[in-house]
Amino acid sequence: MALERVGFVGWRGMVGSVLRERMSAEGDWAGLEPEFFSTSQVGLPAPDVGVAAPPLGDAYEISRLARQQVIVSCQGGDYTKQVLPELRAGGWQGYWIDAASAKRMDDDSVIVLDPVNRDHIDRAIAEGVRNYVGGNCTVSLMLMALDGLFREGWVEWLSSMTYQAASGAGARGMRELVEQMRVIGDDARKLLDDSAASALEIDREVSESVRGAGLPTENFGAPLAASLIPWIDSPMEGGETREEWKAFAEGNKILASGTPIAMDGFCVRIGAMRCHSQAFTIKLRSDVPLDEIEGVLADANDWVSLVPNDKDSTLERLSPAAVSGTLDVPVGRVRKLRMGPDYLGAFSVGDQLLWGAAEPLRRILGILREHEG
Ligand code: NAP
Repeated sequence: MALERVGFVGWRGMVGSVLRERMSAEGDWAGLEPEFFSTSQVGLPAPDVGVAAPPLGDAYEISRLARQQVIVSCQGGDYTKQVLPELRAGGWQGYWIDAASAKRMDDDSVIVLDPVNRDHIDRAIAEGVRNYVGGNCTVSLMLMALDGLFREGWVEWLSSMTYQAASGAGARGMRELVEQMRVIGDDARKLLDDSAASALEIDREVSESVRGAGLPTENFGAPLAASLIPWIDSPMEGGETREEWKAFAEGNKILASGTPIAMDGFCVRIGAMRCHSQAFTIKLRSDVPLDEIEGVLADANDWVSLVPNDKDSTLERLSPAAVSGTLDVPVGRVRKLRMGPDYLGAFSVGDQLLWGAAEPLRRILGILREHEG
């Protein structure tokens, strides 16, 4: 039966907004009878997506949710933990598509990243799996970037050092970063306007601003602009953060690799807006020639591209400034490392609100609609 009745929860949040934009850009609303739900704005008009939709429903009204064939939630993990069990307990058999991490590691759900694990998704649909969850942004972007190496089975282990954008902490995180930049810029304005002011004077002023009480840090708990934060999410037992743990846990679940590949590193928040970057140290299983590696990386999927390892190409194509707002996943700085011929280095950038969040959700909805014809 064609999937038409699709409920959207969390549609006005950051991931939900990007999802709506992408669905509009791709003409995905055609043929849908969407219903939009809210935890706070029940009864207000639905967003205009070009097809009719009733006023906003109550996101906690189980009977109304249960009328949907598919529910797409970008509302957050607490919402998922509360509502999904109630729906299932009531016998709801629909598809649950989720941005939150709550159900990612459960046996009855698949982490979706179809350019990488389409086979796995197709098998799961055939087997009747009803829960499809987008992966952690950093993990999804890593797998998109290094897709070719994993496909070939060349990776023995890898370490990823990340440079993660403010958007990973939600809309308030993005706002706070720019507010911090404003405080620093305003404080330094006089010195910047004075061509005789020394760089050391400017530095002293900036340091004072960054450490001062005037810098807003409610969201990140520390300065991010003109600084960085080497801690993302909660602590885990082994000393890693939950964000760092996800590379191994979610990465191997997406790859569905029989023998888990060791993946670990440090996740660091930096002052980019919505692109995560990552530097990889990859231990290959053998000494694969560099030109072969480059070819495999470049051809792995439609979104990854190889950036030549030179300064001009790197500055032009391999930065958050170049990639933000696009689906491109450039991989560059590819070279053999001094540790030996089977050690590879690479650097990649990706928009964490697109491939890292909204795009896999948009695509799994399309895949499910295709399957159900
Ligand atoms: P968000 O922007 O905080 O939005 C979540 C909900 O907050 C909205 O749906 C809305 O629900 C409510 N809300 C309250 N005030 C709002 C306002 N002024 N503007 C918009 N919404 C407001 O959350 P998010 O960053 O999109 O994340 C949603 C889920 O996706 C989370 O589980 C997150 O972990 C996951 N995720 C996020 C990212 C990311 O990069 N941010 C990446 C991957 C996965 P009501 O309409 O019900 O009030």
